[in-house]
Amino acid sequence: MTDRSFAGPSDLHMHSNHSDGTENPGQVVRQARDHGIRTMALTDHDRTTGWDEAARTAVSLGMTFIPGMELSAKHQWRSVHVLGYLFDPEDAALRAETDRIRDDRVGRAERIVRNIGRDYELSWADVLEQTTVDATVGRPHIADALVARGIVRDRAEAFDGILHPREGYYEPHYAPDPLTAVRLIADAGGVTIIAHPVTSGRDRMMPLDFIEQLIAAGLGGFEIDHRENTEQGKRTLQKLASKHDLIVTGSSDYHGAGKPNRPGENTTSDEMVARIIAQATGTSPRYP
Ligand code: AMP
Ligand code: FE
Ligand code: FE
Ligand code: ZN
Repeated sequence: MTDRSFAGPSDLHMHSNHSDGTENPGQVVRQARDHGIRTMALTDHDRTTGWDEAARTAVSLGMTFIPGMELSAKHQWRSVHVLGYLFDPEDAALRAETDRIRDDRVGRAERIVRNIGRDYELSWADVLEQTTVDATVGRPHIADALVARGIVRDRAEAFDGILHPREGYYEPHYAPDPLTAVRLIADAGGVTIIAHPVTSGRDRMMPLDFIEQLIAAGLGGFEIDHRENTEQGKRTLQKLASKHDLIVTGSSDYHGAGKPNRPGENTTSDEMVARIIAQATGTSPRYP
C-alpha cells in the first residue's frame, strides 16, 4: 500500500520483445507516452524481465509504471490469459510455474516448426532470428519467421492460416489451470484480471459457473474494454463484475508492429487503477 498518487489515462496491458511485442520495454513506454498514456503496465507473457527497463524509462518520463505479467493458462481446450499486477516477482512458486511454461513453450515451438517444415521452407534457426532478446517464445515469432521467408505477408495472415490449429501444424504447450494461475498470483500478493475473456472465434468464453469458481478463489476482475471482446460478452461480464464488486479494466494489448492495437485505444479508469494498487501487496508501482 502507498499513498503516492498516479495520473491517468492508464493502459494496463502492453507487450515488449521480452515476449511477443516487437519493441524493447523502453520503446513501449515511449509509445505509450506518445499516445497520451500517463500510467502503464508491461504485461509480457510468462516473464518479468522487462520490468526494470520499463520502470526506468517510465519514471524518467514522469509516468507511473505498474509491473505486470500475462500468465498463460488453459481451461479444457481454451487458452486463458490471466493478467497479474503488482505481485512479488521473486515468489518461488510463481517463478517455478513461469519457468515451466516458458521451457515447454520452446519445445512446443520447435515441434510446430518441424511440422511446418514438412511443407514449407522454414527452420528453427529462422525463428531464433526473430527473437532479439531471451523472449517467451510463441507462435508470433514463428509468424515473423514465415514473414521473413516470404511465405505470408504478416502475423495476421500466419494466424489465419498456417498457425491456425485447423491447418494441422499446431501443437499445444503446458499451461496451468486458471484456478492455479489465479491462486499463484494472488499468493504472490498480486491482483488478477482475466485478459480478453470473451473473444469470439479465437476462443470461447469459460462457463459462468467456472468463472464463479475463479472469483471464489480470489480473482480480481475482468479486462472488459479490449478490441477482441464481443459486445454481448462485455455486457455479461459487466453484470457479473457488478454483482461481485470486481475490478473492470480496459487496455490496448499493444504488441508493437505485431498487431494493429494502438496504445491507449482502451483505458482503465482512475478508480479501478486505484483499486488494483490498494489490493496488491507483492510490490509497489514505480512513481515518477
Ligand atoms: P501462443 O501463445 O504461442 O499460442 O501465441 C498466442 C499469441 O499470439 C497471443 O499472445 C497473441 O498476442 C498472438 N496472436 C494471436 N492472434 C494473432 C494475430 N491474428 N495477429 C498477431 N498476433 C496474434
Ligand atoms: Fe501476445
Ligand atoms: Fe492475451
Ligand atoms: Zn496480451
